[in-house]
Amino acid sequence: MIVMKFGGTSVEDATAISRAAAIVKGRVGQKPVVVVSAMAKVTDQLLAMAKAAGAGDRDTAQRLCRSLQERHYNTAGELLGTVRFTRFHAQLEESFQALDELLRGIAAVGELTPRTTDNVAAYGEMLSSVLVTEAFVANGLDAVLVDSREVIVTDSTFMRAAPQFEETNERLLANVRPLLDAGRVPVMGGFIGANKAAVTTTIGRGGSDFSASIVGAALGAERIEIWTDVDGMMTTDPNLCPDARRIKVISFDEAAELAYFGAKVLHPATVLPAIQKNIPVYILNSRNPSGEGTRITTRAPKCRNFFKAIAAKKRITIVDVAAPRILLAHGFLKAIFDAFDRHRIPVDVVSTSEVSVSLTLDSNESIPALAADLASLADVKYEGRKAIVCLVGENLREIPGIAAHVFGELKDIKIRMISQGASEINLTFVVEEEDVPEIVRRLHKKFFSELDPEIFA
Ligand code: ASP
Ligand code: MG
Repeated sequence: MIVMKFGGTSVEDATAISRAAAIVKGRVGQKPVVVVSAMAKVTDQLLAMAKAAGAGDRDTAQRLCRSLQERHYNTAGELLGTVRFTRFHAQLEESFQALDELLRGIAAVGELTPRTTDNVAAYGEMLSSVLVTEAFVANGLDAVLVDSREVIVTDSTFMRAAPQFEETNERLLANVRPLLDAGRVPVMGGFIGANKAAVTTTIGRGGSDFSASIVGAALGAERIEIWTDVDGMMTTDPNLCPDARRIKVISFDEAAELAYFGAKVLHPATVLPAIQKNIPVYILNSRNPSGEGTRITTRAPKCRNFFKAIAAKKRITIVDVAAPRILLAHGFLKAIFDAFDRHRIPVDVVSTSEVSVSLTLDSNESIPALAADLASLADVKYEGRKAIVCLVGENLREIPGIAAHVFGELKDIKIRMISQGASEINLTFVVEEEDVPEIVRRLHKKFFSELDPEIFA
């Protein structure tokens, strides 16, 4: 069997859903389980209406809810014939009535808890999965809806619930396997599940990839296909560098570094359950379904190029913390990291000297508060408008002179921080945000002018 996951843009309207149906039809022989995201932007809209309701703004909540309803009605109308649509219409109506009541309840209480947030957010995938199932059936597929809340069992950490794998795997095997054996096409919503008490949960933003990976790992998939709206992972951002090329195959670890430092195609942590079972994950383009995409594998194949890709992450702030004499002892780093922990601010790059530490953070509003907190320990300066540039490739520690190759190209550029060796597969440095396009173009030219044909398209 295989898992085919369609992201929000791949089910965003009737055209996209018809395209998805055609793609699935082409693979029926491989026994697909289909996992779908909410239609594009729907989760954001649901969260916005929940928030509005929580703030007592019932009008905004209802207006957003109505526009969502209209979009689902219109899409269903376009996809299903009259008879089917009439039947389906009643089902949609019921869902939206329930959602409306839920929002009223939230507005009446004037408080939005994580638990109710999940209740609202789950509507995106609940609706898209019933709609896609209906559309598939209308297209001649023997599709059947599997309610994810009956098979994906999680803990009760609402909004980022952790799947309980043992229970989940059992239920997937019991409920989904027989459908595949009967030649049917199970369709499930990603992102959602339920705790043991059957209360709806969600597993974190972007969680549908995670759902797909959980399903694939449980059922022993041959591969997992993540259908999205780009041709795969690229050597760099094509908007920065028109020479960017598709990466045909990349290791999980390399893909993880790239995602961390700015490549947005996929959060590799979400495909970990598949990778641990040696199941390859493909990134594919639903608008260009004959493309080969990018294959993410457990181990990286040999590559003649030093690097697989260059990623850049903008909107970075550097925080420089200089120790006063009394803190020079061993407690200094701990005190600093404790402060970051208190403010729940994740750190990307760190470099230290005898008397100071520099760290980078995603720019956000908590930084002044953090700086004030740290100021009681040390001298703190912070500076925004920086960017992290990250080059990713296998076995970088083993390549003599790799740093010279990179920085030799950047002789006239101000480099604020450098980090290499923390993992074997990345070389990372921090620069002024405005220098990013020039840096990426130069490095891409240097390292990707000749390409290993096994690895790059
Ligand atoms: N719809 C959810 C989100 O937007 C999950 C997903 O699409 O992966 O985060
Ligand atoms: Mg996604």
